[in-house]
Amino acid sequence: MTSSASLPDVAQLLPDLYQLVEIESPSGHAEAISRVMDVVEGWARALGAEVQLLAGGTRSFLFGEQQRPALILTHADTVWPLGTLEGMPFRVEGDRVYGPGTYDMKAGIVSAIHALRAIHASGGWPAGGLRLLLTPDEEVGSSSSRVHIEAAAREARAVLVVEPPVADSHALKTGRKGVGSFVVTLHGIASHAGNKPEEGASAIAEAARLIPAIHALARPDAGTTVSVGLIQGGSAVNVIPATCTLTIDVRVSSLAEGERVTASMHALTSSDPRVRLELSGGLNRPPFERGPQTMALYARAQALAHTLGFSLTEEVVGGGSDGNFTAPLAPTLDGLGAPGDGAHAAHEHVRLDRWPYHVALLTALLREV
Ligand SMILES: [Zn+2]
Repeated sequence: MTSSASLPDVAQLLPDLYQLVEIESPSGHAEAISRVMDVVEGWARALGAEVQLLAGGTRSFLFGEQQRPALILTHADTVWPLGTLEGMPFRVEGDRVYGPGTYDMKAGIVSAIHALRAIHASGGWPAGGLRLLLTPDEEVGSSSSRVHIEAAAREARAVLVVEPPVADSHALKTGRKGVGSFVVTLHGIASHAGNKPEEGASAIAEAARLIPAIHALARPDAGTTVSVGLIQGGSAVNVIPATCTLTIDVRVSSLAEGERVTASMHALTSSDPRVRLELSGGLNRPPFERGPQTMALYARAQALAHTLGFSLTEEVVGGGSDGNFTAPLAPTLDGLGAPGDGAHAAHEHVRLDRWPYHVALLTALLREV
């Protein structure tokens, strides 16, 4: 990399990141999450933002006159429970800053705020305005914020998601698999395993027969993965088990594959007529397909990165984000947050030597998108 006068100083980014990380904000903890949001709201108001409080706790910040604004997506929740900081403190070691929620995605929020500050300082908002959405529940499926995300995307000329780039890289995310979760509950008949086994109908035995059938729905060549990730069943070792539950993770690269797997799940049948199957769940996030609009945005980003002195790449990833909701509605580019590694892991960190380049990239992209 070469140095550039337009790069922000890490010394200015770090205090803001510290402030957000020191407020632990696990999904579901509304009070903690709103404290993070209060800090961001203070920063946004200092830039003249109009603030909207939306149902479920999402906040929307409007910058400039709104006419098909460019939308920045952020989330305030993390996967880390309260008290995590005690064993995993915010700390700088060499080129890395560690701590819960640094990489996913509090540094992304800080990137967005610094980009907005730089744009504000250089003479005003781009035509059409900018909008930042801050949601409380991305890590648990965005059930309360999805409606706001989709409504904002329908009005947006582009959506920039400041989830982190691909781990340990300068790779943006130009597609994401759709994510689904299914639960199959098997209802059999309990009986004494020693005296009257023939009167029972084993839910576990039927589940064991079903699992290979479920796994056979995967199509690796089409990007579809299916995994029974959890099994719960039985009541005691000497009882023919009356119930068993299978929880299944599904990832798909296309909507057609999502529909195929969903239909196949509904078509599962029991080989033992005395064991009844019950199915719940479905596709939670639709696939974010790597389309021409996203690739056009990526091409702009790549050119801008080149002028900033670094080379950008792109990747389609298996994990979902709120970009999955916006990609069918507006041109979406994801992974524009802070580079680093260790999302949802103890070594979660942001790379301080690379972060300023990505802030400068986001700033440039927001100026011209
Ligand atoms: Zn995230």
